[in-house]
Amino acid sequence: MKLALHWKILIGMILGLAFGLTMKNLELVGVVTDWIKPFGTIFINLLKMIAVPLIVVSLITGLADLKDISKLSKLGGRTVALYLFTTVTAVSIGLVLANVIEPGSYINEVSRDTLLESFTGDANAKIELAASAKNQGPLQPLVDVVPENFFEALTDNASMLKVILFTILLGIGIILVEEKHSKPVVDFFKGLNEVILKLIDIIMLGAPIGVFSLMASLMVEIPDFTTLGALLVYGMTVLLGLLIMTYIVYPTLLYSFAKVGPRRFFSAIAPAQLLAFSTSSSAATLPVTLERVTEHLGVDEEVSSFVLPLGATVNMDGTSLYQAVAAVFIAQAMGIHLDLTTQLMIVVTATLASIGSAAVPSAGMVMLVIVLGQAGIPEAGLALIFAIDRPLDMCRTVVNVTSDSAVAVIVGNSVGKLRKPEDIHERIL
Ligand code: ASP
Repeated sequence: MKLALHWKILIGMILGLAFGLTMKNLELVGVVTDWIKPFGTIFINLLKMIAVPLIVVSLITGLADLKDISKLSKLGGRTVALYLFTTVTAVSIGLVLANVIEPGSYINEVSRDTLLESFTGDANAKIELAASAKNQGPLQPLVDVVPENFFEALTDNASMLKVILFTILLGIGIILVEEKHSKPVVDFFKGLNEVILKLIDIIMLGAPIGVFSLMASLMVEIPDFTTLGALLVYGMTVLLGLLIMTYIVYPTLLYSFAKVGPRRFFSAIAPAQLLAFSTSSSAATLPVTLERVTEHLGVDEEVSSFVLPLGATVNMDGTSLYQAVAAVFIAQAMGIHLDLTTQLMIVVTATLASIGSAAVPSAGMVMLVIVLGQAGIPEAGLALIFAIDRPLDMCRTVVNVTSDSAVAVIVGNSVGKLRKPEDIHERIL
């Protein structure tokens, strides 16, 4: 019997966790870091390697298929509106939960001081990283989107927005010129698109091994949870918020606006979710998200190739929810009262900070520094949440990817580009 991809990935994850734990107990950490971890790194690198070419090629192909600039602006407007809506919803849910549950009140002075002491060094590194983002003018993010040199942007995975902007311009150019000029260009990219999709299929054959090794190395590297008790309620609050987004907010939106049921949605995107969990990176997961949403959920490529790369870079509901809970938690633990105005400010800053977060592991924590600064919460408080940031990062990345996929389906449906289940012909791996 042929096992579905998500089962293979899940089995790889569980075996990896068990293997890592056993090796840690046997004090064979070195074996894992020397001989197992590199395979995880190779797997992530392969995904990242294909991400930028995939964005360029599929976006050009998709935009060329639109054949009309007004369709592009409709698509863009709806996508941005939905992204903003889901992010603000996520932050608001995070704030409500943090105020009702008050996770900060569960942390006593002793564990607070121990955490602050143990993780101050790590926290300072993140605070320094955030410093460069903070010292810029208000319009700097806008300037940052425009590449000075397209080829330079292509070589930097952190410059995805620049790549997207240039590619959109290229797509607009293709739509506007006469067909005799655009046809050879489009044909070339269409062919290349098929080739790249095939490469993703091949890379994904290694996914079970990749996640096995990622999970095994995570288990041996993660800090011991000695003070976990104090952080448990905080972690649970973030998780509860993420679960609400995943199992209530998105399914409701999907059903109300696209008549897509949760079963169809989740079984199609499960491999992307599992990969988001194992890699903690929406960018590394993007090739698989695109493949699942297009081939298995039936969103036409002209929509998915536009909505998903943009979402991977700017739409991070899981991250924004986490930032809201973390900010309130740190304030509570440090005995700082946050009034309503400050909390409303957190809605704005967490939304912007999640947009600015890169789609890579622990980027959300770096941008949290800015949220803390704006709300007048000491940035050193970051040390409090460090110990359990990695597992929460894995979970929030799942939500980030789920949100992008849900918005792709809703936008696709709204412009008549969502195929019916019977019209979806999945390419077999
Ligand atoms: N790891 C997250 C992502 O890639 C970002 C973050 O919250 O740290 O989506």
